[in-house]
Amino acid sequence: MSATMATIIDGKAAAAKIREEARLRAGLLSGAGVRPCLAVIIAGEDPASLSYVAAKEKALAEAGMESLDIRLPADVGESRLLETIAGLNADEKVHGILVQLPLPSHVGEDRVITAIDPAKDVDGFHPVSVGNMVLGRPGFLPCTPNGILALLGGLPVSLSGAHAVVVGRSNIVGKPLANLLVRRESNATVTICHTGTVDLASHTLRADILIAAAGKAGLIKADMVRPGAIVIDVGVNRVADPSAAKGYRLCGDVDFPEVAKKAGHLTPVPGGVGPMTIAMLLRNVVQAAERQAAFRS
Ligand code: NAP
Repeated sequence: MSATMATIIDGKAAAAKIREEARLRAGLLSGAGVRPCLAVIIAGEDPASLSYVAAKEKALAEAGMESLDIRLPADVGESRLLETIAGLNADEKVHGILVQLPLPSHVGEDRVITAIDPAKDVDGFHPVSVGNMVLGRPGFLPCTPNGILALLGGLPVSLSGAHAVVVGRSNIVGKPLANLLVRRESNATVTICHTGTVDLASHTLRADILIAAAGKAGLIKADMVRPGAIVIDVGVNRVADPSAAKGYRLCGDVDFPEVAKKAGHLTPVPGGVGPMTIAMLLRNVVQAAERQAAFRS
């Protein structure tokens, strides 16, 4: 008897719809004389960060939005970063500000993020945005968790009453995602796992929805997954592969070939969560521009 294979969740297709919606909204704004603009600050030459920034800027251009690329050296002082942000906060042509993380280790990441005007905080990392999210008030939601929620919303299953297990408790993925899942609108029951969790598999096996956001290649094996579960793989890991042109390939936190034989739905890496993160960023930039245009008119 052949095993039933999981339905592969197409993040690119889901993202394309959101990007098209953002393009139409950006077109309306541009027609009214407001071209949505995101300022992107990157400090240093980390190759992964450079490629993420390039992907974001390409997507913005395709949606008819502008990006202001601010490249700073790896040894940039914190005061210069704070001055740059203050200038962008005051610039009416800039609607969103994104600081590509991680910042060089000598810079206080928290101080830099907190310097961004919450009205322009399209990454949703500012404490005010986080507070609004937790309280269920309007504000910018962080792009990756919000993208995952949109992916789940597109499946023919209800989150309400489902048991969601999130592996990872970072401020940018695990914690906000758990928070969004437990909201009354989602109504899931949530377990958060981390490196202090004893017997990870005992938790993941109870998941109707399993979200892996640990940044550990192959952490989630088939024997940790309940048959028919929805598995969302957030991880982006580089693993050495001499046969690949770059000498490495990208893979998630989930043992994809084996888990695909057991899960009901599964996201691929690449092509799952990643495209949704960018789509949600575009949506947040348009939203920022709409709010600021309404405020000024
Ligand atoms: P992070 O800050 O390193 O956090 C990883 C979390 O996973 C931590 O809470 C850590 O626990 C937990 N963890 C690590 N190993 C574990 C293990 N063996 N068992 C249980 N928990 C474990 O990473 P992040 O920024 O959240 O990102 C996670 C992954 O998602 C990375 O691969 C990243 O590249 C990827 N990512 C993808 C996107 C996208 O758009 N596709 C966006 C953001 C991030 P402790 O807290 O105990 O250390």
